[in-house]
Amino acid sequence: MHAKHVHFTGNDKSNDTSAAHCPIRMVVQDSVPLISGGGITVSDCLFCKIASGALPAHILHEDDEIMAFLDLHPIRKGHALVIPKAHYTWFEDLPVPLATRITSCAQTLARSMKRLYGVERVAMFYTGIHVAHAHAHVVPMFHIHDVTSAFYLSDGTEGFSTPAPLPASEMAETAEALRREVLTQS
Ligand SMILES: [Zn+2]
Repeated sequence: MHAKHVHFTGNDKSNDTSAAHCPIRMVVQDSVPLISGGGITVSDCLFCKIASGALPAHILHEDDEIMAFLDLHPIRKGHALVIPKAHYTWFEDLPVPLATRITSCAQTLARSMKRLYGVERVAMFYTGIHVAHAHAHVVPMFHIHDVTSAFYLSDGTEGFSTPAPLPASEMAETAEALRREVLTQS
């Protein structure tokens, strides 16, 4: 494997303590296989294979617990994924320190993307689609609908539609049901 390390331009933030968890470093590799579909078992999991080094990726950061690399099917140039090295299917199953570490890495990536691409905002989200190994997407937003919902697109890509509010009674009922569920976990 031929890899070389390339520092993001303008990423020198020596006073940025959060960068300690994610010293961004781009690793350029010669060839990367196409990733498609989702892993059913851990041994088949594509992201576990990337985490173990069995499959190559355009790695942006790696430490003992997490890894960040370029999404092979980017919404925009720079679209990155941040994963735990250990296999967790859903983000809500991540231990809090691990989830925090992923978020911290995504924050560092977002600041770097803003400087590198000049975008106003960077989106970060988990969807649980594509690969059944929790992964946070980090996407530089060049357009307001780069990360969106069919509801928000009702008036086309140049508008930003607002869904109709629900009746107050339904909102109160929804909030009460969710609060009850939250209490059962605490
Ligand atoms: Zn996995």
